[in-house]
Amino acid sequence: MATLSIEPIPCLRDNYAYLIADSDTGDAWLVDPSEPGPPGALLRRRGLRLRGVLATHHHVDHVGGIATLLDQHRDVWVAGHARDEGRIPRQTVFVDAPAERFITTELLVGGHALQAMYIPGHTLGAIAWYLPPRADAVAGDVFTGDTLFAAGCGRLFEGSPTQMHASLQSLVALPHETLLWFGHEYTAANLRFSAAIEPDNLAVTARAADLPICTTPTTVALELATNPFVRARSVEELAERRLAKDEFRG
Ligand code: FE
Ligand code: ZN
Repeated sequence: MATLSIEPIPCLRDNYAYLIADSDTGDAWLVDPSEPGPPGALLRRRGLRLRGVLATHHHVDHVGGIATLLDQHRDVWVAGHARDEGRIPRQTVFVDAPAERFITTELLVGGHALQAMYIPGHTLGAIAWYLPPRADAVAGDVFTGDTLFAAGCGRLFEGSPTQMHASLQSLVALPHETLLWFGHEYTAANLRFSAAIEPDNLAVTARAADLPICTTPTTVALELATNPFVRARSVEELAERRLAKDEFRG
């Protein structure tokens, strides 16, 4: 089985697209190409052939690059949740993944069957994409879009606190070493909010004190220790914290 590499591609102001590459075959896949420029340049520089696009949700800062990239590359599938039909440009694969558990899709990425789970909350078409453990890794990789950020979660634009709570808990039910690749570099600001919510949480203090410029990926273990939305003990507490975060100027 091919060994895949995953690389964050900074886009727009604070977005991350991701390049998944199979160096044996030269095949590549993109997650959430916000804009065509940086992902397109990286594909050219590496001499890779684009085979598919994975969209985590329909927002333009995640799918804005798809149309131009598809004009430049042939035979590329574009996958998103079935509920985002009509909202993701040039979508060709409509995955009807259920909430709370991953199902195997027919999509192959480097010979691995891609798995998908419905994670509503930020939007009602949000999907998490899961790749099984690569090489000698003990756990897999998940692309969480704007549902789970490092020490944060997305705003509730379409979904309810109940949905967001269930989606986050389903993600952190994965093995602790699972790598979570998220949609925006908001981590420093998120940790300031975490510290305001839980001033005595030493894991939060330690994480904030030693933050790299690029903080993706995070892990399930780190989120269980520092993410105030993952750590909310009830739907009501999550809803309260989400409202407080919307108002927070830290
Ligand atoms: Fe979004
Ligand atoms: Zn976004």
